[in-house]
Amino acid sequence: MEKPESNSDIENVVIIGSGPAGYTAAIYAARANLQPLLVTGFNSGGIPGGQLMTTTFVENFPGFPDGVLGPDLMDLMKAQAVRWGTKLIESDVSSVDTTKRPFELKTLEGSIKANSIILATGASANRLGIIGEEKFWSKGISACAICDGATPQFRNEELAVIGGGDSACEEAVYLTKYGSRVHLLVRSNKLRASASMIDRVKANSKITIHWNTSAREALGSDWLEKIKISESEKIFKELEVKGLFYAIGHTPNTSFLNNQIEVDNRGYIKCDGGRPETSISGIFAAGDVSDSEWRQGVTAAGSGCMAALAAERWLSEKELSRKITREKPDPDKSNATNNIVDEDANEETFDFNSDWQKGSYALRKLYHESAKPILVIFSSPSCGPCHVLKPQLKRVISELNGKVQGVEIDIDKDQVVAQQAGINGTPTVQLFKDKLLKRQWKGVKQRSEFKDAIKAILK
Ligand code: NAP
Repeated sequence: MEKPESNSDIENVVIIGSGPAGYTAAIYAARANLQPLLVTGFNSGGIPGGQLMTTTFVENFPGFPDGVLGPDLMDLMKAQAVRWGTKLIESDVSSVDTTKRPFELKTLEGSIKANSIILATGASANRLGIIGEEKFWSKGISACAICDGATPQFRNEELAVIGGGDSACEEAVYLTKYGSRVHLLVRSNKLRASASMIDRVKANSKITIHWNTSAREALGSDWLEKIKISESEKIFKELEVKGLFYAIGHTPNTSFLNNQIEVDNRGYIKCDGGRPETSISGIFAAGDVSDSEWRQGVTAAGSGCMAALAAERWLSEKELSRKITREKPDPDKSNATNNIVDEDANEETFDFNSDWQKGSYALRKLYHESAKPILVIFSSPSCGPCHVLKPQLKRVISELNGKVQGVEIDIDKDQVVAQQAGINGTPTVQLFKDKLLKRQWKGVKQRSEFKDAIKAILK
């Protein structure tokens, strides 16, 4: 093998992916003074932070006796990785050239050279591809009940979830908070979820389980009104539901590797004997991208730790590590907490000049009285993508030096406002100026999109 180069333009280790595997690898590599670069992912392969960003309470991650919200857990891991010196790039890796040493990675922002790589890109939610799916996507059909469940259109309506794993069961239970009834459509005659999750589903009188049942078609006019289902491939029926949620498993995110790394027959990166080494020396894998069996937050974190230790050993064997020297042995505290309470502004606390406030009182005051553009994010309490987007919007507002003001509306708390604004999923961002809606975005977008739209109306 050609001896890889070692100079300052080359990263010791680039970690691709920002789920529990990626951040744990980053914490270990950063504490080994390797100053890792972590590319978080952005549009491809789900949202930054990974699958836990679309989960409610994680009750089996050690250290949180009362459970922790998935997005909060990811915020804490990120803060820990950054505290120890991890560099972050919010982008997707579009390709990796493994024939070169150092390896070359391409992102939207440019190329990166790396002596070693940890692949922690996880897996993405599958879609079913039934008739009408495209038409009703985000108009009743969703792959994330936890993100979209609180939308007004689902309140007190019948809803359906497809799947029989932990995700489907968790989502069915979660949706009973909003829907009048939740139909759980299971294609076989058994649930494969954990025993405690099955107990919760069975104990919930608002859930009806339909065994040996598949969805065939989505029907309606502007919004989903009903689905055609088949039971045991023989009996066809219609089920009147206003929401259909997929929880039918995941596909590993490996397409950007362009078949350069060996995968198994299900497309997961092949790693022998539970070790992190891949078919290419210097490239390691961790988390769901190489695990078709366990797929837990804690196993992903454990494998991220192994990948970082293996990469550290590999770099030092090849005499490629360039370790940083810390000025202070203990970096400053992160101030992260898993219990951040952000209060709504009211008559007493509302501040006309504040850059960012919460709640319908602040929105009404600014909408009627402020001459500045207003950026409104409609979020819901457990919406992971909202966790990703909020700091981005706050950064846009601060970069525009107070020329625009931000308001967050929790659609769970401010249902009337959400309904009036026509919100059908979170996060939704609306940009107002002079009481007129100028732009609307759904989902997580690049900061530049918001900034360009605001600058255009400031001209
Ligand atoms: P999963 O365990 O792979 O389950 C997928 C489910 O979807 C299965 O029941 C499968 O049916 C069904 N399915 C697949 N394709 C289908 C299709 N075309 N039509 C209808 N049904 C289909 O996925 P998951 O539930 O997302 O869980 C993934 C991992 O995350 C698991 O290890 C799980 O334990 C973990 N997880 C944990 C928690 C938690 O602890 N709070 C929450 C969520 C997920 P069959 O059973 O017939 O194959």
